[in-house]
Amino acid sequence: MSKILFGISLMVIISCTATSQSAKMPKNEPVISMQSDTIVPVQKTEEEWKESLTPEQFWVLREQGTERPFTGKWLANKKDGQYVCAACGFPLFSSHSKFETTCGWPSFYESIDKTHVKEIVDTSHGMRRIEIRCARCGGHLGHVFDDGPKPTGMRYCINSVSLDFVPEKKKK
Ligand code: FE
Repeated sequence: MSKILFGISLMVIISCTATSQSAKMPKNEPVISMQSDTIVPVQKTEEEWKESLTPEQFWVLREQGTERPFTGKWLANKKDGQYVCAACGFPLFSSHSKFETTCGWPSFYESIDKTHVKEIVDTSHGMRRIEIRCARCGGHLGHVFDDGPKPTGMRYCINSVSLDFVPEKKKK
């Protein structure tokens, strides 16, 4: 009988411990981190992409084109906000990591979340570069180089055409 009572009291203690631990779990995890665990791919045929993108967006995002330097609409943008994929709306870069550069394309020292961009070795044009693609739709964004500023030393050199900008809402 005493063994049964001991067993019951042990179960009560374990279940209480489990309850108190789950109560301590943070309730408001950052939305981006939660998404990064469950990125649902956006898959369309090339014909479907052609219909949903402008000809220039299709050329850059789906055919690895590169916009002419110093022509992109986000190059001089200094507003606070998020840069998202122009093809699927996935958050890619924060304005906080954008920096002034002379290369002619919007540049960031890090992505908004490591899992939101894919890195692919690109040996085209007789060079070995690291291509950056959207992790959700596979759209071509640009390339990353290791000559960026602190704190990462990286330079994500991104086509404006591949990005949309979502301004930060001002706090009231
Ligand atoms: Fe995308």
